[in-house]
Amino acid sequence: MRTPIRITAIRPTTVAVPLEAPLRHANGAHWGRFVRTIIEVETDAGITGLGEMGGGGESAEAAVRGLQSYLVGHDVMRLEALRFAIANPTASLYNNRTQMLAAIEFACLDIIGHALDVPVHALLGGKLRDRVPFASYLFFRFPIDDAGTHEVRTPEQLVAHARALKVAYGFGSHKLKGGVFPPRHELACYRALAEAFPDDTVRFDPNAAFAIEEAIRFGHAIADLRNDYYEDPTWGLNGMRQVRAAVPIRLATNTVIVNFEQLAANLRDPAVDVVLLDTTFWGGVRACVKAAGVCETMQTGISVHSSGELGIQLATMLHLGAVLPNLSFAADAHYHHLRDDVIRGGKLPYQGGAIAVPDAPGLGVTLDHERVARYGELYRRTGGYAYDRDPSRPGWYPLVPNGDWADPAVPSPKLAFAWEANA
Ligand SMILES: [Mg+2]
Repeated sequence: MRTPIRITAIRPTTVAVPLEAPLRHANGAHWGRFVRTIIEVETDAGITGLGEMGGGGESAEAAVRGLQSYLVGHDVMRLEALRFAIANPTASLYNNRTQMLAAIEFACLDIIGHALDVPVHALLGGKLRDRVPFASYLFFRFPIDDAGTHEVRTPEQLVAHARALKVAYGFGSHKLKGGVFPPRHELACYRALAEAFPDDTVRFDPNAAFAIEEAIRFGHAIADLRNDYYEDPTWGLNGMRQVRAAVPIRLATNTVIVNFEQLAANLRDPAVDVVLLDTTFWGGVRACVKAAGVCETMQTGISVHSSGELGIQLATMLHLGAVLPNLSFAADAHYHHLRDDVIRGGKLPYQGGAIAVPDAPGLGVTLDHERVARYGELYRRTGGYAYDRDPSRPGWYPLVPNGDWADPAVPSPKLAFAWEANA
């Protein structure tokens, strides 16, 4: 009879890790750093597991600490029980703990892996590949100084940025995050990108900011390019279905299919061709593996989504990507935009556009407590930021669909935080 490994404590720590430059998106921006909550789950076996989730600050830390009364004493190997213990679907109408469930699941998988001396991918069925390919994830960016360093606003700046990333990391697919500037400008940028890399594939994601008619117009204007897919051009399953009927490109989403109910709805009445699986949004790595199995059965495409990870969540994406037979697209990661990481040894390296799947026990990454302290201090000095606001446009907030775009003729201003990025 196996001895249970029981949770004894859950320790959240919020960190702010600087980005190379602030990243613009349809809802606002990442203002110069990622704020993430690192979660350490301690056990009576003396093994500590690592989890990670988005957002942060006192409220996230308090919410995670609030789970202690539910989880102290829980056996980490009882992962299905964990799901119902803190994220029962009807109880969740009163509290949404999906992202916390994910972070705790990551830590439990890490603990189980250490206890059995196997990597997490071995717990998920075993790896089918040693490396997971990633796309370059290109954003329009604010500069970090008055000279315009790292700004991305024009087609020329975008292509130069993509060339630099391709040289540094070897990407063979390029994703442009749009929904910032008028569609006509973003179309020029996207076409310039595709034409600069004729042998690579491209993907465009305006974060559902387009009206249906705009999404159809834009889709026709890019239909001749080597698109992997057209990601969330408009909002909602019913909006996506209308675009899909009118545009000859496969549609992808990370917004309107993030749970099994929505996946089932899409199978009954298809609106999306490629489901981008996010280990946080879906409530854990195992939920993504299950969803990928449904998609394999129904021949729906999949890829791995990025919600702004540090090395712990990146490890979950690598283990997920390693075990999916039907992974036919490069995964997305924000990772290359970070200046550093909280794991020992710093950022995991890219080679040939891919990152090696960790084979060490558990998630295969170790927390660097000196870095956690440094970036915990940076968080305390700089605080959170309004992800859903554009720091260059006071009073603006995004409508869906949007029509109030940033002006591409105006050089982007330097943000107050940018100096921190050089600290
Ligand atoms: Mg997306």
